[in-house]
This record gives sequence, C-alpha cells and structure tokens, in this order.
Amino acid sequence: MTTSASGITGLHWDHFRNGKTAKSSGSDVFELISPASGEKIASVVSGTAEDVDLAVTNAHEAFIQWSQLTSYDREKIIRKATTYVRTQADRIGMLMAMEQGKPFAQSRSEILGSCDTLDYFAAEGVRIEGTVNSTEKNTFRSWVIYQPVGVCGVITPWNYPVSLLSWKLGPALATGCTMVVKPTMVTPLSPTSFCMALAEGGIPPGVINVVNGRGSIVGDALVRHPLVKKVAMTGSTETGKKIMQSAAVSLKKISLELGGQCPAIICADANIDNAAQVVAYKGFRNDGQSCSSVNRVYVHREVHDEFVAKLRSIAEGMTIGDGVEQASVDLGPMCTKQGLKTAIEHVEDALRRGAKLITGGSAPEGKAFEKGNYYRPTILDNATDEMLVMQDETFAPIVPVQVFDSIDDAVHRANNTRYGLVSYLFTTNLKTAMELSGRLEAGTVSVNCSAVNTNYAPYAGWKDSGYGLELSRKAVFEYLNTKHVKIELV
Ligand code: NAP
Repeated sequence: MTTSASGITGLHWDHFRNGKTAKSSGSDVFELISPASGEKIASVVSGTAEDVDLAVTNAHEAFIQWSQLTSYDREKIIRKATTYVRTQADRIGMLMAMEQGKPFAQSRSEILGSCDTLDYFAAEGVRIEGTVNSTEKNTFRSWVIYQPVGVCGVITPWNYPVSLLSWKLGPALATGCTMVVKPTMVTPLSPTSFCMALAEGGIPPGVINVVNGRGSIVGDALVRHPLVKKVAMTGSTETGKKIMQSAAVSLKKISLELGGQCPAIICADANIDNAAQVVAYKGFRNDGQSCSSVNRVYVHREVHDEFVAKLRSIAEGMTIGDGVEQASVDLGPMCTKQGLKTAIEHVEDALRRGAKLITGGSAPEGKAFEKGNYYRPTILDNATDEMLVMQDETFAPIVPVQVFDSIDDAVHRANNTRYGLVSYLFTTNLKTAMELSGRLEAGTVSVNCSAVNTNYAPYAGWKDSGYGLELSRKAVFEYLNTKHVKIELV
C-alpha cells in the first residue's frame, strides 16, 4: 500500500451487490475531487432507483439465511471479518484521507475503531434477552421475543464516513438484518471499500450491499422501498426531516442522528488547562466537522482571559497540511469548498457584529495551501447570541467565546437552541456537575471530557438533533421487532 495519493487515483468505482461489484443501470457518473489539491481522485457511478431495487432484492434474499443463523454463529463470522478488515486499515484509511481530507493517521484509526464497534455489537447480539411473563390464568404461557426487522436502508454522511456506518452496520449485522448502504456522494470510497472488505472477510454475499449516488435519487428510493423495513441515517436535520416524511408512508422504523450546535460552559472553578485541551480537541479536530463539535463557549468572567490565552496557544500550535502526504498532521483541508465558504461567511458575519478575532480567520499562508480547502483554527471572542456562529451548525474549526457572570444565564443560553446533541461542562465541583448535567437539554452531557461517543453508552439527539438512538446495547433494539407469544394449554 502506497501512502501517496498517486497510487490510487483515477479509479472508477461501481456499486457493490451480492458480494460483487456491480455496474449501474444508468450512465450517470460523478467525479470526486481532492479537498487538498482540487484534482480529480476517482469517478463513481451514480445509481438509479432500479439499482436500489436490485440491491434491496439481494438483501431480502440474503436475509432468509443470515437471520436464521444463531447469534453465536453471526458473532464468529463478524469477528473473523473485522480481523480481516483490520489488515486493510492502511488501504481504506488512505482512501478516506484522500476523499475527506482527514489526516491519514486519524483516518486509519477510524477504520480500526469501526472494527471495534462491529465487534462490540457482535458480542451484544448473543446477549439479547426476551421475557417470560406471569399470566392471569395457570393455563396461559406468555413470553416476549425479539426478531430482526429485515432489510435496513443505511444512509451516511461525509464527516466520519466509516465510523458512522459502523454504528449502523454493527447492530444490523448482529441482530440478523441485511442492508443496503448509501454513502454520501462526497466520500463514497472509504465506506464502499469498508463494506467490500467485510464481505472479503466472510460476511456472506447479499448481507451488505452498496448503492452509490445522489440522496435525492438513491437515498429517496431506498427510504421508500417497500422491502426496506428500517432506515438508519446520519446527516443534517433538514435531510432527516425529509426522510422521516418519506418513511412515514410505509411506517418504517427509523433512527436519525442529525445536526448539533453544542455549547460548552466553563465555570470559575474549572481546571482551565483541561477545559482548553478539550475545547481545542472538540472544536478543531476534523476541522470542526463533527456533530459533537464544541460550537460555542460560555466562560465565567473570572477565568475568561486565562482560558482564551490557553486555547489560543493550543490552536496556534496545531499543524496543518495534506494528510495524505503528511500522515500525522493535526488538521487537513476541510472536506468541501462549500464548507470552507460557510466558514468564511460565518467569521465575516461575526466580525461585522463586533466579535474580536483572537487567532485564525484565514487560510494558512504558503503555496502548499493555495489549492486546498484549508482554514486555520479560529477563535472569536466577544461573541453575541445573534451571530451565525452562535446559532447555526458552522461545521468548521471555529470556536466563538462569550463571557458569563451568572450560571443560570449560561445554562439558559446553552439550552436556547433548536438542537440538543451534546453539552459540555467544565467544573471541579461535583454538586455543580450533578445539578447542571440534569438541566442541560441534550442527549449527552460531557463533564470535563471529550470522549462523548463510546460503544457502551447511547448517543441520542434531543430536539432537532435526532430521533431514536445509536450505540450501546439499546441500539440493538432499533433493529428488532418485538413479538409477544401467548399460548393457552388446552
Ligand atoms: P446530508 O447532506 O443531510 O446528507 C446525509 C446523507 O443523506 C447523504 O448520504 C445524502 O446523500 C443523503 N440524502 C440527501 N437527501 C436525501 C433524501 N431526500 N433521501 C434520502 N437520503 C438523502 O448531511 P451531510 O452534509 O452529509 O453530513 C453533515 C451533517 O451530518 C451535519 O448536519 C452533521 O451534524 C450531521 N451529523 C450528525 C451526527 C450525529 O450523530 N448526530 C454525526 C455526524 C454528522 P448525498 O449527499 O450523497 O446526496
């Protein structure tokens, strides 16, 4: 495996169906452009509703056998497949670095983490328990069991193209479901390649199928297909609402992980070194292109100057570059030109409304950065509520900071959003941590730490941030139908 882009550019990518690559029924093809250089990386077929139908039919046929295996057998097959995929982490990680802009070391680590997620769910599959009920008559017997829903439509975004796929593949595979995956057109190579590697590693043909193409065509056809019994999607709130409407026609099960606008409250008693480290990590990593990014900081007046100085020092120490050539830089280019444009517009809006630029606010200087979507980690002080950076999901390496005097005011401002994904809190006082974690309106409250996504705990968006949940053993039930069996012993 070469670590240079040149070895794997210029490829043509098809769909993946029934264990083999498959041509599209249409002739539409889209080009993938490198976020680092602006050059073409690959061409990918853009599928049709007919391609979706063929893939769903394959998945439907594969369901009969896959769902009949015991969960112990499925666990063995999944673990064998992930063992193989780990040997492919360099290759798939490089595809992600090329298409997404995420530095190779982080991309590779995303592939390995995704294998861990599949293993976690494989183990959960054997722990699914039903119940036996007490009954109103001695001659009755009553029990509740769980059965796989069937074919799942899996629709994923570009910011964590494989990780967010594994959050859905994991419970789907473990419970005996089969699936058709529609990766985003922005980063189709690494998720398609991950699915193909799972099949090469032993997941039977037809269990995982991939149809590449436009959300409005392939995604929509998948959501509406009558044989698709569940849709799992991560993406923007606007797309999620559209999918919910389309899925309602046939009352499919759905889970949606959507946008965020995550606040961080830094109390006067916080460990400021730690707060600055966590905010830098969650604000700048992956260029802030994460649903759980810290989008706005409320810091107590007493510790404001110290916090801003420390955050600035970390931001200015971050290395930026083409993560395909320089595997271990902190930040690569932003994934899309549109994302970069939004970042620039949001910073301009904030400055126009009186924000103070502490650092960043532009691309790094030098020839190496001229063609790519590069943007420096940016801190805006004196942020006010009406600024776009304080309201919208900027999805860029930008951290706006606002001072507070009263904790009640900070909590009110933190909650004053249509989103409810993650809220961050920094305090060394246990009582404050307990009280405020109860009052913050979010599916996850992260106190003094950045590791908000763990296999063992549910990740659920409140308000406009989602519907249903992912991760943890609870996610398994998103892929199962409940059945009550009642018998009278006559
Ligand atoms: P997006 O534009 O909403 O797209 C998400 C997926 O939906 C893509 O595969 C897209 O396909 C597809 N799609 C678009 N229209 C569709 C339709 N009518 N029917 C079915 N599928 C359709 O989101 P994105 O820009 O890729 O991702 C960024 C967003 O994801 C951000 O808002 C971020 O907060 C959110 N996100 C949330 C979480 C979470 O766990 N809560 C995690 C990560 C990201 P095409 O793009 O190929 O057309």
